[in-house]
Amino acid sequence: MSQYLQTSIEYLKGIGPQKAETLKKELGIFTFDDFLHHYPFRYVDRSQIYTISELDAGVAHIQVKGKFSDFKLEGAARTKRLKAVFSDGTGYIDVVWFKGISWIQKYIQPNKEYVLFGKPGEFNRRLNIVHPEIEEAKDFLSQGNAGFQPVYSTTEILKRKGLESKGIQKAIKELISNPNFKIHEILPQSILDEYRLMDRHSAFLNIHFPQSDEAQKKAEFRLKFEELFFLQLKMMRIKGVRRKDVPGIVFSKVGEYFNKFYNDVLPFELTNAQKRVVKEIRFDMGSGKQMNRLLQGDVGSGKTVVGFMCMLIAIDNGMQATMMAPTEILAQQHYNNIRSFADELGLNTALLTGSTPQKARREMLASLENGQLHILVGTHALIEDKVKFNNLGLTIIDEQHRFGVQQRAKLWNKSLSVPHVLVMTATPIPRTLAMTVYGDLDTSIIDEMPAGRKPINTAHRYDTNRLRVFGFMKEEIEKGRQAYIVYPLIAESEKLDYKNLIDGYEAVTRAFPPPKYTVSIVHGKMKPKDKEFEMQRFKRGETQIMVATTVIEVGVDVPNATVMIMESAERFGLSQLHQLRGRVGRGGEQSYCILMTSHKLSHDARLRMETMVRTNNGFEIAEVDLKLRGPGDIEGVRQSGIVDLKLTDLTKDKEIIILARMAAEKVVEQDLHLQLPQHQFLLNYLRSRRKDGFNWSRVS
Ligand code: ADP
Ligand code: MG
Repeated sequence: MSQYLQTSIEYLKGIGPQKAETLKKELGIFTFDDFLHHYPFRYVDRSQIYTISELDAGVAHIQVKGKFSDFKLEGAARTKRLKAVFSDGTGYIDVVWFKGISWIQKYIQPNKEYVLFGKPGEFNRRLNIVHPEIEEAKDFLSQGNAGFQPVYSTTEILKRKGLESKGIQKAIKELISNPNFKIHEILPQSILDEYRLMDRHSAFLNIHFPQSDEAQKKAEFRLKFEELFFLQLKMMRIKGVRRKDVPGIVFSKVGEYFNKFYNDVLPFELTNAQKRVVKEIRFDMGSGKQMNRLLQGDVGSGKTVVGFMCMLIAIDNGMQATMMAPTEILAQQHYNNIRSFADELGLNTALLTGSTPQKARREMLASLENGQLHILVGTHALIEDKVKFNNLGLTIIDEQHRFGVQQRAKLWNKSLSVPHVLVMTATPIPRTLAMTVYGDLDTSIIDEMPAGRKPINTAHRYDTNRLRVFGFMKEEIEKGRQAYIVYPLIAESEKLDYKNLIDGYEAVTRAFPPPKYTVSIVHGKMKPKDKEFEMQRFKRGETQIMVATTVIEVGVDVPNATVMIMESAERFGLSQLHQLRGRVGRGGEQSYCILMTSHKLSHDARLRMETMVRTNNGFEIAEVDLKLRGPGDIEGVRQSGIVDLKLTDLTKDKEIIILARMAAEKVVEQDLHLQLPQHQFLLNYLRSRRKDGFNWSRVS
């Protein structure tokens, strides 16, 4: 980057130390370069001059050309104001000033033509405008000012310092009209040609002060492309370097355990998608490269069994395997599932969580280190330094978005050689987002549900219809089925939520009284042991109704449960609603999901309900979720660097994502280490932007 762009902003004409301090605090702008990246969020078209007769007070901005007359000073002291009439021959508009009156009186001349720009209003049924921007018509026309003018985001504090949008505009104009302002190209010519990109210098000029509508669009395209290109180039290089430099343990065979499980133990036929994915993973783990793979699949698509079969491949090759889950309940659930299979195969499994007693823990860790233990399932507790494997071959991370990047990195140091890593996520994310967030991972997708599953019937009902909903529940329970009733639990209002849950529980027990009915309750304040006890009772069918908070969101697997009722459903996000719905529809019976809300719903909440009723497809739901919430709010995205994207809108710029990815792919294929002369600027740029010393290539 040029010396000029690295200059601290206090040295920019018109800024100075005080404004500079505020810019740093308010917008994180330290250098000229930072300022240059503070892009306008919209433009106003100043190319059009309107006639007053065609105006009305409802428009956002007007621009008219004419003369002032009838200056009048009104009021006194604090209420003093200057009024004038502005006319262009087609009509009149009142102009009012409360400030800078003497300056206006001196500067404005009645016989001269001016261009007025501003937001119109209405007063006494006459069009009026307060403190418009004014320019002499001959200057306005000669300076070529007529064009798109940028509007910048700012803050109240900045405004008080004179840095409202207009002030920022002036400063940036100053910055880029300096003779030292020169932006070097960093993309290779071949990419500029292939994707018809505007050169970098022009792009920065035109994003701030577009020469035309078209130039603005080209500038925006170029800069978005650049953002996405570097993000993906970074990801692909991480992946490429890892593939080349980190040797993978070779799982050369599929052995006895795998075959025995497949032929004798597995209680169902795998779906074609599951078979394909097992093959992909098996191939990857046999390739000599270290695997880093994302396994995506909708709730209930059968990811766990796929994960387990991959563990068996590791064990067949004399290695250990581990599975890490984000919550104790989920870890327990996985453990129960895995254990039931593993026992039949004569494999040793253990569960390690925060509440594992000391003595059991010591024994477990010893057998882990001497290699007797084949499979360890657990929570974050797995990451602790004391946990050492004899020879870890495969790590499976479930629901990865809940684990921080650093936590995952710790799993690498658990064994002499780097294990294969399989990340399973139950929250599908849109393809374009996956490309960017998980660009360093290979992806496998299970896009098929086990045979015989009936799509869940979803309905939206209002609270006033609860009795009928309970009536429906009774019918299902009569048939021998079970039901969940879920209440929201959000940290800020934990007390209130808890009260709602308990009130709800009481209402449910009144509507479903013992001894005919039995109701379980599970919530976050219970001890893990008590939670587990209630879960198991429900699972064994000893209770018919499970009243719970979102602790049951993931992992709970009771195929006989066919009804999911979500209370205050408007308070849940889409992905959470979808996750919760996935707790039913796991057996062969028709299942139902009922979303209970009040009558008062926001636009977004209504859209969430409609989406849930319309589709069972997790990927489709993820698309809507992304549109509603924006990428920054999607779990797991925040640590990915995607929030650094300044111009790109991941929900709208899909095409650019794909184009930029193609370009990045080509570069990496040709020159992974960016050694070629035409890639020198790419390398420099990536280096200049590496803010911390964290070695990303060591992270799955
Ligand atoms: P996910 O983790 O993807 O949400 P699970 O692995 O928990 O899904 O599987 C959901 C349920 O479906 C489990 O009870 C599992 O045993 C069962 N299951 C998995 N694969 C199949 C299949 N191919 N056929 C029938 N049932 C299956
Ligand atoms: Mg699961």
